[in-house]
Amino acid sequence: MSSSSASETPLTSLVQTIAQRERVLLAPYALFSADSRGREYPEPPHPYRGPFQRDRDRILHSAAFRRLSGKTQVFTGEMGDYHRTRLTHTMEVASIARTIGRALGLNEDLIEALALFHDIGHPPFGHAGEDALHECLAGEGGFSHNRFALTIVQELEVRCDDYPGLNLSYEVLACQQSRADKMAAERAPWLEAQVVDAADSIAYNAHDTDDAVMLGLVKLEELAGIPLVADLLDRVDHHGRLSPEMRRKALVHALIDAQVEDCLRGAAAFLEEAGWQSAEEARRADFRVGAEGTLAADKRELERFLYDRVYRHPRLIEVRSRAQQRLHELFDELRRRPEELPPSFQRRAERVGLPRSAGDYLASITDRYCDRLYASLCLPKTGG
Ligand code: MG
Repeated sequence: MSSSSASETPLTSLVQTIAQRERVLLAPYALFSADSRGREYPEPPHPYRGPFQRDRDRILHSAAFRRLSGKTQVFTGEMGDYHRTRLTHTMEVASIARTIGRALGLNEDLIEALALFHDIGHPPFGHAGEDALHECLAGEGGFSHNRFALTIVQELEVRCDDYPGLNLSYEVLACQQSRADKMAAERAPWLEAQVVDAADSIAYNAHDTDDAVMLGLVKLEELAGIPLVADLLDRVDHHGRLSPEMRRKALVHALIDAQVEDCLRGAAAFLEEAGWQSAEEARRADFRVGAEGTLAADKRELERFLYDRVYRHPRLIEVRSRAQQRLHELFDELRRRPEELPPSFQRRAERVGLPRSAGDYLASITDRYCDRLYASLCLPKTGG
């Protein structure tokens, strides 16, 4: 019967392999899966998923990735449920990065893996949480979410008994390593990593604008003082017929479109001119995707506005200082009572020291869980 003969045929001869697909679709300066240097703990190739697809899947199925849904991007959960979380930010970055990467003929699987990975090391309460943990661990070399992302995928996540961590491909780890320590990086990151960095800033410029207006922290009319915003508002609502809500939404779409188009124009023209024949050749050049588009100055102005008027808004400053105080108290309490750490972090303390293990534990939890832990460890018990 045909079904039994199909089941005896190796799957690889029935389906398109990733190598075959990439040979047709990718530009010569892309990073091809077949050129990956592999993994620290060697594994046989998968019959139909390429190495970077497997990396993406391992990241997607990790507990740390799921916890991004409970972690602050800019605005905390108590401020409402419209705005972005660290998880939805990550998904927007992945979507924008894949759009750019596909248009440039780069490796989308690698881009997606890097995008889903890029913020996985963020502690609860965003940069406020990161700054607090950095202070707590000042005597231990400090804390950085980019370095902690590596700790997560090389040590904390466990997927089998054979090795610690997720055993990701060399290239995915190297890209994160160069984010963690920009000074130590010998060469520019691969173009795929540059695309993810560009998409990160495109995404947050647009969604922080949207969220800030929706939350009433700034008015659309105030944003219209920025030339880029004024120009886009004029484009999407030339006759002023849109409702305020539709104007805000149209502006956000236009902000993403304009930045992506600017990024693609600059990159496509340069890539055509350079004519690189390999990913390594592209890394040796000074070129950076998205760095010097014609919108660069306009983007900086929008970012300055967001920094002054949104990230430094009194409502955010208040939430920020409360979160930091809680993390400081929790850190002190866990050092006094290490038995309150989960067993895996108690064992980890024997290897890396109690402060680092307590800091890593606090970095791994969500905003919600941090508040619950604070109530149970640091607040006097009520009732009874
Ligand atoms: Mg990000």
